[in-house]
Amino acid sequence: MTTELETTFARASAAQRAAPVVSLDTRLDRLDRLATALLAAEPRLIAAMSDDFSHRPAVESRLYDIDLVLGEIRHAKQHLKRWMRVRRAPVPLIYKPARAEIRPQPLGVVGIISPWNFPVQLALAPMVAALAAGNRVMLKPSELTPRTSDALAEMLAGAFSPEEVATVTGGPEVASAFSALPFDHLFFTGSTAVGRKVAEAAARNLTPVTLELGGKSPAVVLPGADLDRAGRRIAWGKAMNAGQVCVAPDYVLVPRKKMLPMADAIMGAFMHFFPEGPESPDLAAVVSDRHLARLDTLLAEAEARGAKILRLEGPSGNARKFAPAVVLDPPPDIALMQEEIFGPILPLIPYDSPEEALAFVTARDHPLALYLFSEDKAEQAHWLDHTISGGVTINDTTIHVGFGSLPFGGVGPSGQGAYHGRTGFETFSHLKPVVRQAKWNGMAVAEPPFKGWRKRA
Ligand code: NAD
Repeated sequence: MTTELETTFARASAAQRAAPVVSLDTRLDRLDRLATALLAAEPRLIAAMSDDFSHRPAVESRLYDIDLVLGEIRHAKQHLKRWMRVRRAPVPLIYKPARAEIRPQPLGVVGIISPWNFPVQLALAPMVAALAAGNRVMLKPSELTPRTSDALAEMLAGAFSPEEVATVTGGPEVASAFSALPFDHLFFTGSTAVGRKVAEAAARNLTPVTLELGGKSPAVVLPGADLDRAGRRIAWGKAMNAGQVCVAPDYVLVPRKKMLPMADAIMGAFMHFFPEGPESPDLAAVVSDRHLARLDTLLAEAEARGAKILRLEGPSGNARKFAPAVVLDPPPDIALMQEEIFGPILPLIPYDSPEEALAFVTARDHPLALYLFSEDKAEQAHWLDHTISGGVTINDTTIHVGFGSLPFGGVGPSGQGAYHGRTGFETFSHLKPVVRQAKWNGMAVAEPPFKGWRKRA
């Protein structure tokens, strides 16, 4: 029996096969349609995101969900002609005078599965790259932000034919059937556990995957760092979207003697950002009761195991607001230090020497992001050379994600593959090598019979 999903996929696939060459104009037109639709839907999307979270600051939705995607579109439009160009490649001496080139080509129909935490950005930023590369797209947004997913589906249906871009909504069952479709590429953003399932489903079709996953991203405050500056930027990265950010600083490594001043700097920054306390309109709520209960459990376990907790005080004004917290020196075996936190809780882990801090980081999974706070160039270089992470920001947090000029992705358990800007275009393109033989063919000397060569071989 053919399911609706399979029919949608078959139609998109047939349309791509009927028109495999996708001109620059067509691609630019699709990007323009996406930008126009996004601008028109902006108020509805921002309201839907706030409803889905039970509260989310409009400024954060605009900056990180809408503007980031518009920025990706602008960047792609500006550079697409050059990205699409057939590139000449060097020819090894023995093949001269043949010619070699690399032709970027659309892959076909790509699937995108997106999470709830930045429900617009993480659905549309990969779509920008896929459309720029000339593909057709099927999107499966998160069921945890249903109003946003419906608004996205409506917006995309108004701007594209279902053969160009189709949205499929639903929970894990739909998602699982979706990931079993024989896409030409499957792009997944979400948890490492579900990413594993997606990779398995895709492997059955030999569908290549990009996995944008999570993990525990450390912030490392080195001995000479400016504590106030570090505290403020770490608190900012943790407060954004109430810590529900894949690249949020998950925990802070800090020289033992500086742990208390560091905690003060971070708490001071939280109080500065949210002078009204947790009820501040500038603090997002947690996405669901289940996620809120999980954060409560993480803190309760830390407290029960003797860790000191500092918390932003004041009324919350919303049952799903979680007051940002700093946890001093929690034991390493509790859930807070084992799982990705994904909420506004910041453990501070004291260290006695920078070598010990480095060993702490390298003994764990390669993180999605690493944040270094140091003014010393040699120290920065040492850490860059001795750690592996998806990306790095030095003396700030999270901002490398906003650079269209840089690849964004994880490594190992935090993900595989990357996107944004040209990297995204190449992720969704087949870079086809082509050799054009010349009339005078130097390789003719390698044709049998080998007569004169036999003795030498
Ligand atoms: P999730 O893995 O629970 O869900 C993500 C998507 O997968 C949803 O659309 C869901 O419906 C779908 N899904 C669920 N079961 C599936 C299955 N069996 N097969 C296929 N798809 C399935 O993640 P989440 O809770 O929405 O997001 C939070 C996680 O995402 C965190 O771990 C975070 O670090 C990570 N994340 C990573 C990035 C990144 O860019 N690397 C960005 C945002 C979030």
